[in-house]
Amino acid sequence: MRETVLTTEERESGCVFAPKFDSAGLLTAVVVNANSKDVLVVAFMNEEALLRTRETGKVHFWSRSRGSLWLKGETSGNYLMVEDILVDCDQDALVILAKPAGPTCHTGAESCFYRRLDPSAPDTRALSSASR
Ligand SMILES: [Zn+2]
Repeated sequence: MRETVLTTEERESGCVFAPKFDSAGLLTAVVVNANSKDVLVVAFMNEEALLRTRETGKVHFWSRSRGSLWLKGETSGNYLMVEDILVDCDQDALVILAKPAGPTCHTGAESCFYRRLDPSAPDTRALSSASR
């Protein structure tokens, strides 16, 4: 994998995109609904997934469980169409603003984050619906 070496100043304030993949070759991608700003899904991208996302305008991930490139929506048709990509300070995480073609979660929920954790409840009854 190519590694662009930047100073901290360049990395944090410059115009060079030099994504910092972790030791597994991945970075974190948070996909947000471009209209509602709801968080839809958090997953990982390797260099190829990032490249394909930029080339096609459709969000691609690296599936850690399957060990393969994953076009989000490839089976459901519920693609995530890229509107904007934000890069964090140290360039190891992305926020992708996207228009979802349908429910994002494989369970049929609009967002993968459809449950709320009660921080003080015991684990056996800590989860409830996050719908507002
Ligand atoms: Zn999900």
